[in-house]
Amino acid sequence: MRNKIYVLKFGGSSVADVRRINNVADIIARYVKKKYHLLVVVSAMGGTTDGLIQLARKITPFPSEREMDMLISTGEQVSSALLAMALHKQGIEAISFTGPQVGIITDTYHTKARILKIETERIKRELARGKVIIIAGFQGISTALEITTLGRGGSDLSAVALAVAVGADRCEIYTDVDGVYTADPRIVPDARKIPYITFDEMLELASRGAQVMQTRAVEVAKKFNMPLHVRSSFSRKEGTIIMEKKNFIEEPVVRGVTLTENEAKVTICNVPDRPGIAAYIFNKLASKNINVDMIVQNVSYQKTTDISFTVPKETLARTIRICREIAKNIGVKDIRYDDQIAKVSVVGVGMKSHSGVAAKCFSALAKAKINIEMISTSEISISCIVKKKAGKKAVRVLHKSFGLSRKK
Ligand code: ADP
Ligand code: ASP
Ligand code: MG
Repeated sequence: MRNKIYVLKFGGSSVADVRRINNVADIIARYVKKKYHLLVVVSAMGGTTDGLIQLARKITPFPSEREMDMLISTGEQVSSALLAMALHKQGIEAISFTGPQVGIITDTYHTKARILKIETERIKRELARGKVIIIAGFQGISTALEITTLGRGGSDLSAVALAVAVGADRCEIYTDVDGVYTADPRIVPDARKIPYITFDEMLELASRGAQVMQTRAVEVAKKFNMPLHVRSSFSRKEGTIIMEKKNFIEEPVVRGVTLTENEAKVTICNVPDRPGIAAYIFNKLASKNINVDMIVQNVSYQKTTDISFTVPKETLARTIRICREIAKNIGVKDIRYDDQIAKVSVVGVGMKSHSGVAAKCFSALAKAKINIEMISTSEISISCIVKKKAGKKAVRVLHKSFGLSRKK
């Protein structure tokens, strides 16, 4: 029987300084004692990636995406080498690698590349030698032989993809919280830890702003049914297991509340109300790789209508440029935008079979005098755009009104 293979991922806050890197080495040492084969994925030391992005922005507001990847992929190389040294100090055989060295092959979309395949020969060879393998997360090498990165939070994806590729027995995501909570504990202090959650609910929470797991990582875990254990590197407590649907005893209607402040709203005013216009606008945006989230079109009374939509803030400048072009082509003048917005969402699979969730959500916000600017719903979530300054309060209000807070 082969030894068990564990993939352990340590996020930026877990390796933020030398003391914490030594703490991670202690955690790894405990697994080594159990004779597991270990693949360890690390993020950059906390704050490093943001710092590198700010540096680039000081040089130019529009850096080349290839050079951005050359720059921001460096953070993970630092932390992986330091962790290898910390393990060596404990007499543990370890070797660090970059993503390209271990054959993480991606497409050519810089700063948000997708993993196409992982060539695992090198990993398997080193595992057979009994070494702890440390891999710089967040990065790969494209089919054009360029270094790529996998989107913010992408070390989660590196870990899950590697776990799938080597057929790992476990994939543990170590972070700075005890697990997945009913809301970001930094915003809602009495949020509760969720012991078990389905891939679908985690996917919805992540895509609506629960930063604790990268959305694409959860997508891959779901696709290959790789359960994940999200837990803290600062305690030994059990965290949250993300897994295929099981008959959980408790199926709450609302599982959690999320907030995202990284979208902006764009409105194209007085658009002619005729077939093909929406298709034209959104095809144009899609062809320029703009990721549109919520879309609202007003009722038209005088053969024109306003179309509003949200996009990631970092693509706002580009979106406005494209919209100005669109506007010229369809004879429209007025384009408005607002980057001071927040999106709050309530998420839960139980919503499928319960009515009144939307009404309760809107009433709670109304009672707190929070104005809703846009609404969108899916089978298992309701999202509202509110003013950015009201976002955190909205999360707390919704969390409380759906009874998610810890009992005192
Ligand atoms: P890492 O550096 O380990 O990848 P992240 O900062 O990406 O960590 O994710 C962990 C953070 O996610 C937590 O510190 C917490 O503030 C935030 N977070 C947001 N929503 C949630 C949630 N629902 N449950 C737990 N943490 C959350
Ligand atoms: N360092 C990268 C980021 O900050 C990747 C990660 O932390 O997962 O986005
Ligand atoms: Mg993260």
